[in-house]
Amino acid sequence: MTLAAGRPYLAIPGPSVMPDAVLAAMHQPAPNIYEGDIVAMMQGMVPDLKKVAMTEAKVAIYIANGHGAWEASLSNIAAEGDKVLVCVTGRFGHGWADMAEGLGIIADKIDFGTKDGIDAARLEEALRADTAHEYKAVLFSHVDTATSLLNDPRPLRAAMDAAGHPALLMADCIASMGCEEFRMDAWGVDIAVTGSQKGLMVPPGLSFVFVSPKAEAARKAMTRVSRYWDWTNRIDPAAFYQFFGGTAPTHHLFGLRASLDILHAEGMEQVWKRHDTLARAIWAACEAWGADNGALRMNVADPAKRSHAVTALGLGQRNGAALRQWVAQSAGVTLGIGLGMETKEDPKGEGFFRIGHMGHLNAHMVLGMLGTLEAGMQAIGVHHGPGALEAAARIIAKA
Ligand SMILES: *Cc1c(COP(=O)(O)O)cnc(C)c1O
Repeated sequence: MTLAAGRPYLAIPGPSVMPDAVLAAMHQPAPNIYEGDIVAMMQGMVPDLKKVAMTEAKVAIYIANGHGAWEASLSNIAAEGDKVLVCVTGRFGHGWADMAEGLGIIADKIDFGTKDGIDAARLEEALRADTAHEYKAVLFSHVDTATSLLNDPRPLRAAMDAAGHPALLMADCIASMGCEEFRMDAWGVDIAVTGSQKGLMVPPGLSFVFVSPKAEAARKAMTRVSRYWDWTNRIDPAAFYQFFGGTAPTHHLFGLRASLDILHAEGMEQVWKRHDTLARAIWAACEAWGADNGALRMNVADPAKRSHAVTALGLGQRNGAALRQWVAQSAGVTLGIGLGMETKEDPKGEGFFRIGHMGHLNAHMVLGMLGTLEAGMQAIGVHHGPGALEAAARIIAKA
Protein backbone atom coordinates (compact mmCIF):
# COMPACT_ATOMS: atom_id res chain seq x y z
CA MET A 1 0.00 0.00 0.00
CA THR A 2 1.10 3.59 -0.57
CA LEU A 3 -0.28 6.76 0.93
CA ALA A 4 1.51 8.85 -1.67
CA ALA A 5 -1.02 8.42 -4.50
CA GLY A 6 -3.16 11.48 -5.19
CA ARG A 7 -2.14 15.05 -5.91
CA PRO A 8 1.51 15.58 -4.96
CA TYR A 9 2.78 18.70 -3.19
CA LEU A 10 6.16 19.97 -4.33
CA ALA A 11 7.18 21.86 -1.18
CA ILE A 12 10.62 22.92 -2.42
CA PRO A 13 11.70 26.55 -2.70
CA GLY A 14 11.27 26.68 -6.46
CA PRO A 15 10.10 25.62 -8.85
CA SER A 16 6.90 26.15 -6.92
CA VAL A 17 3.42 24.70 -7.37
CA MET A 18 1.88 25.90 -10.63
CA PRO A 19 -1.78 26.97 -10.66
CA ASP A 20 -4.02 25.03 -13.04
CA ALA A 21 -4.90 28.37 -14.68
CA VAL A 22 -1.22 28.89 -15.54
CA LEU A 23 -0.89 25.41 -16.98
CA ALA A 24 -4.13 25.76 -18.92
CA ALA A 25 -3.06 29.11 -20.35
CA MET A 26 0.10 27.49 -21.69
CA HIS A 27 -1.81 24.66 -23.37
CA GLN A 28 -2.40 26.21 -26.75
CA PRO A 29 -0.95 26.15 -30.26
CA ALA A 30 2.02 28.28 -31.26
CA PRO A 31 0.97 31.88 -31.90
CA ASN A 32 2.16 34.27 -34.57
CA ILE A 33 4.98 36.28 -33.01
CA TYR A 34 4.94 39.13 -35.54
CA GLU A 35 1.47 40.50 -34.92
CA GLY A 36 -1.77 39.68 -33.19
CA ASP A 37 -2.78 38.69 -29.68
CA ILE A 38 0.59 38.06 -28.10
CA VAL A 39 1.97 41.38 -29.26
CA ALA A 40 -1.07 43.13 -27.79
CA MET A 41 -0.80 41.08 -24.60
CA MET A 42 2.65 42.53 -23.83
CA GLN A 43 1.22 46.04 -23.51
CA GLY A 44 -0.62 45.10 -20.33
CA MET A 45 1.97 42.66 -19.06
CA VAL A 46 4.74 45.15 -18.41
CA PRO A 47 2.68 47.42 -16.10
CA ASP A 48 1.34 44.37 -14.27
CA LEU A 49 4.88 43.08 -13.73
CA LYS A 50 5.95 46.46 -12.33
CA LYS A 51 3.04 46.35 -9.90
CA VAL A 52 4.47 43.13 -8.45
CA ALA A 53 7.75 44.96 -7.70
CA MET A 54 5.91 48.15 -6.66
CA THR A 55 7.91 50.22 -9.09
CA GLU A 56 7.70 52.76 -11.88
CA ALA A 57 11.09 51.52 -13.06
CA LYS A 58 11.56 49.76 -16.40
CA VAL A 59 11.82 46.00 -16.69
CA ALA A 60 13.96 43.79 -18.91
CA ILE A 61 12.76 40.24 -19.53
CA TYR A 62 15.24 37.45 -20.32
CA ILE A 63 14.73 33.90 -21.51
CA ALA A 64 16.82 32.61 -18.65
CA ASN A 65 16.67 31.35 -15.09
CA GLY A 66 17.73 33.36 -12.07
CA HIS A 67 21.40 32.84 -12.86
CA GLY A 68 20.75 34.60 -16.16
CA ALA A 69 19.19 37.58 -14.35
CA TRP A 70 22.22 37.69 -12.05
CA GLU A 71 24.58 37.91 -15.03
CA ALA A 72 22.33 40.24 -17.03
CA SER A 73 22.05 42.77 -14.21
CA LEU A 74 25.80 42.83 -13.57
CA SER A 75 26.70 42.97 -17.26
CA ASN A 76 24.87 46.28 -17.64
CA ILE A 77 26.48 48.16 -14.78
CA ALA A 78 30.03 46.86 -14.28
CA ALA A 79 32.90 45.89 -16.54
CA GLU A 80 36.00 43.76 -16.09
CA GLY A 81 38.12 45.29 -13.34
CA ASP A 82 35.23 47.18 -11.73
CA LYS A 83 34.32 46.45 -8.13
CA VAL A 84 31.10 45.44 -6.38
CA LEU A 85 30.41 44.73 -2.73
CA VAL A 86 28.38 41.60 -1.94
CA CYS A 87 26.55 41.10 1.36
CA VAL A 88 26.47 37.33 1.80
CA THR A 89 23.93 35.56 4.01
CA GLY A 90 24.02 32.10 2.45
CA ARG A 91 24.76 30.10 -0.67
CA PHE A 92 22.91 32.45 -3.01
CA GLY A 93 24.97 35.46 -2.01
CA HIS A 94 28.11 33.51 -2.86
CA GLY A 95 26.45 32.56 -6.15
CA TRP A 96 25.86 36.15 -7.27
CA ALA A 97 29.41 37.09 -6.27
CA ASP A 98 30.70 34.15 -8.30
CA MET A 99 28.71 35.38 -11.30
CA ALA A 100 30.43 38.76 -10.96
CA GLU A 101 33.85 37.14 -10.80
CA GLY A 102 33.05 35.20 -13.97
CA LEU A 103 32.63 38.56 -15.70
CA GLY A 104 35.99 39.77 -14.41
CA ILE A 105 34.33 42.05 -11.85
CA ILE A 106 36.06 42.18 -8.47
CA ALA A 107 33.49 41.02 -5.92
CA ASP A 108 34.44 41.92 -2.36
CA LYS A 109 32.31 39.93 0.04
CA ILE A 110 31.15 40.63 3.56
CA ASP A 111 30.08 37.26 4.92
CA PHE A 112 27.39 37.67 7.59
CA GLY A 113 27.17 33.93 8.21
CA THR A 114 24.06 31.80 7.96
CA LYS A 115 22.04 32.82 11.01
CA ASP A 116 21.83 36.57 11.54
CA GLY A 117 21.29 38.45 8.31
CA ILE A 118 23.02 41.62 7.15
CA ASP A 119 24.31 44.06 9.76
CA ALA A 120 23.77 47.46 8.13
CA ALA A 121 26.38 49.08 10.40
CA ARG A 122 29.08 46.82 8.96
CA LEU A 123 27.95 47.67 5.46
CA GLU A 124 28.10 51.37 6.26
CA GLU A 125 31.62 50.95 7.63
CA ALA A 126 32.77 49.17 4.46
CA LEU A 127 31.25 51.90 2.30
CA ARG A 128 32.85 54.68 4.34
CA ALA A 129 36.21 52.95 3.90
CA ASP A 130 35.72 53.09 0.12
CA THR A 131 36.63 56.78 -0.06
CA ALA A 132 37.38 56.59 -3.80
CA HIS A 133 33.85 55.24 -4.41
CA GLU A 134 35.15 52.26 -6.32
CA TYR A 135 32.16 50.06 -5.56
CA LYS A 136 29.70 50.30 -8.42
CA ALA A 137 27.04 48.36 -6.57
CA VAL A 138 26.04 46.71 -3.33
CA LEU A 139 24.50 43.27 -3.93
CA PHE A 140 22.34 41.36 -1.46
CA SER A 141 19.70 38.63 -1.33
CA HIS A 142 16.31 39.87 -0.16
CA VAL A 143 15.76 36.26 0.83
CA ASP A 144 18.68 33.86 0.77
CA THR A 145 16.92 30.63 -0.11
CA ALA A 146 19.63 28.44 1.43
CA THR A 147 19.50 29.90 4.94
CA SER A 148 15.94 31.32 4.68
CA LEU A 149 17.20 34.65 5.98
CA LEU A 150 15.13 37.72 5.05
CA ASN A 151 17.17 40.90 4.61
CA ASP A 152 15.19 44.13 4.86
CA PRO A 153 16.42 46.48 2.09
CA ARG A 154 15.54 49.65 4.07
CA PRO A 155 18.44 49.66 6.56
CA LEU A 156 20.82 48.92 3.68
CA ARG A 157 19.55 51.93 1.76
CA ALA A 158 19.89 54.01 4.94
CA ALA A 159 23.48 52.80 5.45
CA MET A 160 24.42 53.70 1.89
CA ASP A 161 22.86 57.15 2.24
CA ALA A 162 24.53 57.71 5.61
CA ALA A 163 27.90 56.82 4.07
CA GLY A 164 27.13 59.13 1.13
CA HIS A 165 28.07 56.31 -1.25
CA PRO A 166 26.80 56.47 -4.85
CA ALA A 167 26.78 52.69 -5.52
CA LEU A 168 23.65 51.04 -6.87
CA LEU A 169 21.65 48.90 -4.44
CA MET A 170 20.94 45.58 -6.18
CA ALA A 171 18.45 43.10 -4.71
CA ASP A 172 18.15 39.42 -5.52
CA CYS A 173 14.38 38.97 -5.21
CA ILE A 174 14.28 35.60 -6.95
CA ALA A 175 12.86 33.79 -3.92
CA SER A 176 10.96 36.71 -2.48
CA MET A 177 9.07 38.52 -5.23
CA GLY A 178 5.37 37.80 -5.08
CA CYS A 179 5.81 36.41 -1.55
CA GLU A 180 7.45 39.02 0.67
CA GLU A 181 6.52 42.68 0.97
CA PHE A 182 8.77 44.52 -1.46
CA ARG A 183 8.55 48.14 -2.59
CA MET A 184 11.36 48.81 -5.01
CA ASP A 185 10.83 52.56 -5.39
CA ALA A 186 9.79 53.44 -1.85
CA TRP A 187 12.68 51.43 -0.42
CA GLY A 188 15.32 52.87 -2.74
CA VAL A 189 16.35 49.68 -4.53
CA ASP A 190 18.09 50.52 -7.83
CA ILE A 191 18.02 47.09 -9.47
CA ALA A 192 15.85 44.10 -8.54
CA VAL A 193 16.15 40.70 -10.20
CA THR A 194 13.70 37.84 -10.11
CA GLY A 195 12.70 34.64 -11.89
CA SER A 196 9.45 33.10 -13.05
CA GLN A 197 9.41 29.86 -11.08
CA LYS A 198 9.00 30.90 -7.48
CA GLY A 199 6.50 33.52 -6.29
CA LEU A 200 5.41 34.08 -9.90
CA MET A 201 4.24 30.44 -10.22
CA VAL A 202 5.34 29.98 -13.86
CA PRO A 203 7.79 27.29 -15.07
CA PRO A 204 11.49 28.17 -14.86
CA GLY A 205 12.78 29.95 -17.95
CA LEU A 206 11.90 33.63 -17.63
CA SER A 207 13.75 36.14 -15.55
CA PHE A 208 13.30 39.81 -14.92
CA VAL A 209 15.58 42.74 -14.17
CA PHE A 210 13.88 45.90 -12.88
CA VAL A 211 15.93 48.94 -13.86
CA SER A 212 15.67 52.28 -12.04
CA PRO A 213 16.63 55.57 -13.74
CA LYS A 214 19.89 55.51 -11.77
CA ALA A 215 20.66 52.04 -13.10
CA GLU A 216 19.80 53.19 -16.62
CA ALA A 217 22.36 55.97 -16.23
CA ALA A 218 24.97 53.45 -15.06
CA ARG A 219 24.34 51.38 -18.20
CA LYS A 220 24.75 54.45 -20.40
CA ALA A 221 28.16 55.10 -18.83
CA MET A 222 29.43 51.64 -19.84
CA THR A 223 31.70 51.42 -22.89
CA ARG A 224 30.33 48.08 -24.02
CA VAL A 225 27.76 45.52 -22.85
CA SER A 226 27.47 42.06 -24.40
CA ARG A 227 24.66 42.21 -26.91
CA TYR A 228 22.37 39.55 -25.50
CA TRP A 229 22.44 40.82 -21.91
CA ASP A 230 22.25 44.50 -22.86
CA TRP A 231 18.95 45.72 -21.48
CA THR A 232 18.75 48.88 -23.66
CA ASN A 233 16.28 47.58 -26.25
CA ARG A 234 14.52 45.27 -23.82
CA ILE A 235 13.44 48.08 -21.51
CA ASP A 236 12.49 50.44 -24.38
CA PRO A 237 11.59 48.15 -27.28
CA ALA A 238 10.68 49.73 -30.61
CA ALA A 239 9.28 46.38 -31.78
CA PHE A 240 7.87 43.32 -30.02
CA TYR A 241 10.87 41.04 -30.71
CA GLN A 242 13.19 43.54 -29.02
CA PHE A 243 11.67 42.68 -25.66
CA PHE A 244 13.41 39.33 -25.96
CA GLY A 245 16.39 39.92 -28.24
CA GLY A 246 14.78 37.43 -30.67
CA THR A 247 11.90 34.96 -30.63
CA ALA A 248 9.49 35.53 -27.75
CA PRO A 249 9.10 32.83 -25.08
CA THR A 250 5.48 32.53 -26.15
CA HIS A 251 4.11 29.91 -23.77
CA HIS A 252 5.91 31.24 -20.73
CA LEU A 253 4.29 34.57 -21.50
CA PHE A 254 0.82 32.96 -21.62
CA GLY A 255 1.56 31.40 -18.25
CA LEU A 256 2.86 34.67 -16.85
CA ARG A 257 -0.26 36.52 -18.03
CA ALA A 258 -2.38 34.02 -16.08
CA SER A 259 -0.20 34.26 -12.98
CA LEU A 260 -0.27 38.07 -12.98
CA ASP A 261 -4.05 37.89 -13.23
CA ILE A 262 -4.13 35.62 -10.17
CA LEU A 263 -1.75 37.85 -8.18
CA HIS A 264 -3.53 41.10 -8.95
CA ALA A 265 -7.01 39.64 -8.43
CA GLU A 266 -5.89 38.78 -4.90
CA GLY A 267 -3.91 42.05 -4.54
CA MET A 268 -0.20 42.21 -3.70
CA GLU A 269 -0.78 43.25 -0.11
CA GLN A 270 -3.12 40.31 0.43
CA VAL A 271 -0.64 37.98 -1.25
CA TRP A 272 2.07 39.13 1.19
CA LYS A 273 -0.33 38.75 4.11
CA ARG A 274 -1.23 35.20 3.07
CA HIS A 275 2.46 34.27 2.93
CA ASP A 276 3.00 35.89 6.31
CA THR A 277 0.15 34.00 7.97
CA LEU A 278 1.03 30.65 6.44
CA ALA A 279 4.69 31.13 7.40
CA ARG A 280 3.72 31.91 11.00
CA ALA A 281 1.66 28.72 11.11
CA ILE A 282 4.70 26.74 9.95
CA TRP A 283 6.96 28.45 12.51
CA ALA A 284 4.47 27.77 15.32
CA ALA A 285 4.49 24.08 14.44
CA CYS A 286 8.29 24.01 14.25
CA GLU A 287 8.61 25.68 17.65
CA ALA A 288 6.28 23.13 19.20
CA TRP A 289 8.18 20.24 17.63
CA GLY A 290 11.43 21.64 18.95
CA ALA A 291 10.12 22.04 22.52
CA ASP A 292 10.35 19.26 25.11
CA ASN A 293 13.84 18.29 23.88
CA GLY A 294 12.62 17.83 20.33
CA ALA A 295 15.38 17.71 17.72
CA LEU A 296 13.85 20.12 15.24
CA ARG A 297 15.33 23.62 14.93
CA MET A 298 14.62 26.41 12.50
CA ASN A 299 17.84 27.86 11.11
CA VAL A 300 16.82 31.45 11.83
CA ALA A 301 15.97 32.10 15.48
CA ASP A 302 14.65 35.66 15.15
CA PRO A 303 11.18 35.67 13.50
CA ALA A 304 11.83 39.19 12.14
CA LYS A 305 14.70 37.78 10.07
CA ARG A 306 12.82 34.77 8.71
CA SER A 307 11.62 34.50 5.14
CA HIS A 308 7.88 34.02 4.60
CA ALA A 309 8.57 31.98 1.45
CA VAL A 310 11.02 29.31 2.59
CA THR A 311 12.09 27.83 5.91
CA ALA A 312 15.43 26.08 6.46
CA LEU A 313 15.39 23.61 9.33
CA GLY A 314 17.69 21.14 11.03
CA LEU A 315 16.64 17.80 12.44
CA GLY A 316 19.92 16.46 13.69
CA GLN A 317 22.48 14.52 11.70
CA ARG A 318 21.02 12.52 8.79
CA ASN A 319 17.45 12.77 10.08
CA GLY A 320 16.66 15.63 7.71
CA ALA A 321 17.43 13.38 4.76
CA ALA A 322 15.49 10.48 6.29
CA LEU A 323 12.44 12.67 6.84
CA ARG A 324 12.58 14.03 3.30
CA GLN A 325 12.70 10.50 1.99
CA TRP A 326 9.80 9.31 4.11
CA VAL A 327 7.42 12.15 3.28
CA ALA A 328 8.18 11.88 -0.45
CA GLN A 329 7.87 8.11 -0.70
CA SER A 330 5.09 7.55 1.80
CA ALA A 331 2.98 10.67 1.62
CA GLY A 332 3.47 12.61 -1.66
CA VAL A 333 5.18 15.69 -0.19
CA THR A 334 8.56 16.71 -1.60
CA LEU A 335 10.73 18.86 0.67
CA GLY A 336 13.84 20.81 -0.37
CA ILE A 337 17.34 19.60 0.37
CA GLY A 338 19.58 21.60 2.69
CA LEU A 339 21.98 23.89 0.81
CA GLY A 340 25.33 25.11 2.11
CA MET A 341 24.58 24.08 5.70
CA GLU A 342 27.48 21.70 6.20
CA THR A 343 29.02 21.76 9.70
CA LYS A 344 31.82 19.87 11.42
CA GLU A 345 29.29 17.60 13.14
CA ASP A 346 27.27 17.14 9.94
CA PRO A 347 29.81 17.32 7.08
CA LYS A 348 27.25 16.63 4.36
CA GLY A 349 24.60 18.90 5.88
CA GLU A 350 22.17 15.97 5.86
CA GLY A 351 20.44 17.16 9.00
CA PHE A 352 19.09 20.15 7.12
CA PHE A 353 16.14 20.44 4.80
CA ARG A 354 13.92 23.25 3.55
CA ILE A 355 10.21 23.79 3.25
CA GLY A 356 9.17 25.88 0.26
CA HIS A 357 6.01 27.83 1.06
CA MET A 358 5.92 30.24 -1.84
CA GLY A 359 3.38 31.09 -4.48
CA HIS A 360 0.26 29.05 -5.10
CA LEU A 361 -0.27 27.95 -1.53
CA ASN A 362 -3.16 27.94 0.89
CA ALA A 363 -4.04 26.91 4.42
CA HIS A 364 -5.02 23.33 3.70
CA MET A 365 -1.78 22.67 1.83
CA VAL A 366 0.23 23.98 4.77
CA LEU A 367 -1.78 22.09 7.38
CA GLY A 368 -1.55 18.92 5.28
CA MET A 369 2.19 19.34 4.85
CA LEU A 370 2.68 19.93 8.59
CA GLY A 371 0.59 16.89 9.49
CA THR A 372 2.67 14.87 7.08
CA LEU A 373 5.91 16.07 8.68
CA GLU A 374 4.62 14.99 12.07
CA ALA A 375 3.71 11.55 10.74
CA GLY A 376 7.16 11.35 9.17
CA MET A 377 8.95 12.19 12.41
CA GLN A 378 6.97 9.48 14.16
CA ALA A 379 7.71 6.99 11.39
CA ILE A 380 11.48 7.55 11.41
CA GLY A 381 11.54 7.69 15.21
CA VAL A 382 12.57 11.29 15.84
CA HIS A 383 11.44 12.74 19.14
CA HIS A 384 9.36 15.91 18.87
CA GLY A 385 7.42 18.15 21.23
CA PRO A 386 3.59 18.03 21.29
CA GLY A 387 0.91 20.40 20.04
CA ALA A 388 2.44 21.46 16.70
CA LEU A 389 -0.68 20.99 14.60
CA GLU A 390 -2.88 22.69 17.18
CA ALA A 391 -0.47 25.63 17.25
CA ALA A 392 -0.54 25.94 13.46
CA ALA A 393 -4.33 25.61 13.34
CA ARG A 394 -4.68 28.35 15.96
CA ILE A 395 -2.73 30.82 13.79
CA ILE A 396 -4.82 29.99 10.77
CA ALA A 397 -8.09 30.14 12.71
CA LYS A 398 -7.17 33.55 14.16
CA ALA A 399 -6.37 34.98 10.73
C1 LIG B 1 16.37 30.19 -6.94
C2 LIG B 1 17.27 31.31 -6.60
C3 LIG B 1 18.33 31.70 -7.44
C4 LIG B 1 18.70 30.94 -8.66
O1 LIG B 1 17.71 30.91 -9.60
P1 LIG B 1 17.82 29.87 -10.79
O2 LIG B 1 16.55 30.06 -11.52
O3 LIG B 1 17.94 28.52 -10.16
O4 LIG B 1 19.00 30.20 -11.59
C5 LIG B 1 19.07 32.80 -7.08
N1 LIG B 1 18.82 33.49 -5.95
C6 LIG B 1 17.83 33.13 -5.12
C7 LIG B 1 17.61 33.92 -3.87
C8 LIG B 1 17.04 32.03 -5.41
O5 LIG B 1 16.06 31.66 -4.57
